[in-house]
Amino acid sequence: ITFQELGLNQDLLNAITDLGFTKPSEVQEKAIPALLNEERDLVALAQTGTGKTAAFGFPMLQKIDVNSRTTQGLILSPTRELCLQITNELKLYGKYCKGLNVVAVYGGASITEQAKQIKKGAQIIVATPGRMKDMISRKLVDISKIEYSVLDEADEMLNMGFYEDITDILSYTPEDKSTWLFSATMPKEVAAIARKFMYDPIEITV
Ligand code: AMP
Repeated sequence: ITFQELGLNQDLLNAITDLGFTKPSEVQEKAIPALLNEERDLVALAQTGTGKTAAFGFPMLQKIDVNSRTTQGLILSPTRELCLQITNELKLYGKYCKGLNVVAVYGGASITEQAKQIKKGAQIIVATPGRMKDMISRKLVDISKIEYSVLDEADEMLNMGFYEDITDILSYTPEDKSTWLFSATMPKEVAAIARKFMYDPIEITV
């Protein structure tokens, strides 16, 4: 199966060609059509290196409105490194999506600078939970119009003690958004978070 057959638009297909991706990975083949065609929650059991960033990134890039400056997508990830990696990948995947603004929000760097980037109009924010919570409590970010939220490496985030931060952050997002959870393992804590925040999710294992 090709990326085109998964239903991706020409801007994304052109970026995929530039990147030299010849065919979708298993998680991409399973997740992309499901996320493009249905406004549903998703739970995906997938390790790093499986192409999971593109599995949620492509559908999110295709679904957001780049002509709007409203923040529509929020990706939470456990570490600064992962946060920057996801941001860089989304920028590559979205290089032909004119007007796209992806901003990384993480601790250990200037919050003022990150707030300034967000104020320019970020359709997608990729954040670590601690800094994101800080941003919200200082009213430097508005996530009340989020349509798509991703919990990436959910097991790692919970291991690092981010349960409360995640719960807090999601309480500022609309009830009717879609939530896409990716995790390498499914301990009971992750299953519990899926039950708490998600409704009748599509389930994928790779
Ligand atoms: P991830 O699991 O998202 O960290 O992706 C692992 C690496 O695989 C990244 O460097 C991606 O750029 C790359 N990648 C993702 N999807 C594909 C694909 N369909 N074909 C080849 N490489 C890919």
